[in-house]
Amino acid sequence: MEKQIAEHIDTVGDNHISTNIETPLRKDAFDTSEDEKIVHIQHHFSKIMEELGLDLTDDSLSGTPYRVAKMYVKELFYGLNPIHKPKLSTFENKYGYGKMLIEQDITIDSACEHHFLPITGLAHIAYIPQDRVIGLSKINRLVNYYAHRPQVQERLSLQIMKDLQHVLKTESVIVMIIAKHLCVSSRGIKDKSSFTTTLEYGGEFHKNEVRKEFLSCVNTVTIK
Ligand SMILES: [Zn+2]
Repeated sequence: MEKQIAEHIDTVGDNHISTNIETPLRKDAFDTSEDEKIVHIQHHFSKIMEELGLDLTDDSLSGTPYRVAKMYVKELFYGLNPIHKPKLSTFENKYGYGKMLIEQDITIDSACEHHFLPITGLAHIAYIPQDRVIGLSKINRLVNYYAHRPQVQERLSLQIMKDLQHVLKTESVIVMIIAKHLCVSSRGIKDKSSFTTTLEYGGEFHKNEVRKEFLSCVNTVTIK
């Protein structure tokens, strides 16, 4: 039985399967404060280090459990907590701009939810406005927010797209993410050169020529 469970865990991880557009969160996820979470994670992480055989009385290691806990809660995974979701205020499209707007080369700093290893890359996002437009930096902030939680790349693309479609009141949004997964390059298959591209879109972007226009603008073949 345990072997079966272990095999299932490996299968989900190595195939990078995502089961839902919503990040699976517990109902009581935020009953504890961020400070309480840091205290708890610090405790658990020190146990992991001890089990690995590390001497936590060593000067260099003694502060690590706290540093990791703080980094998880305040930095890498701050986007789990909806209180950190950026306000996506939009404006009336007074100038009647009706063609494509592209925000490209947005940094992706995320972590894979199967191995807790970094996912790094770029996002290119475009929309074709109808009545509403959005401040450009809001798009970057939204990407940052959803990236800063344990993720799978497909879900990250969808979460960003759905939110933009919702606030912009148009289906015509496209989200392209090109990223490297450390869990592919540094463990498992250990492929250093491959990267992953996801492309999610709706509305006008279903048209071949509209997508082509977007792709020719972002013109991104590889990432460094
Ligand atoms: Zn992974």
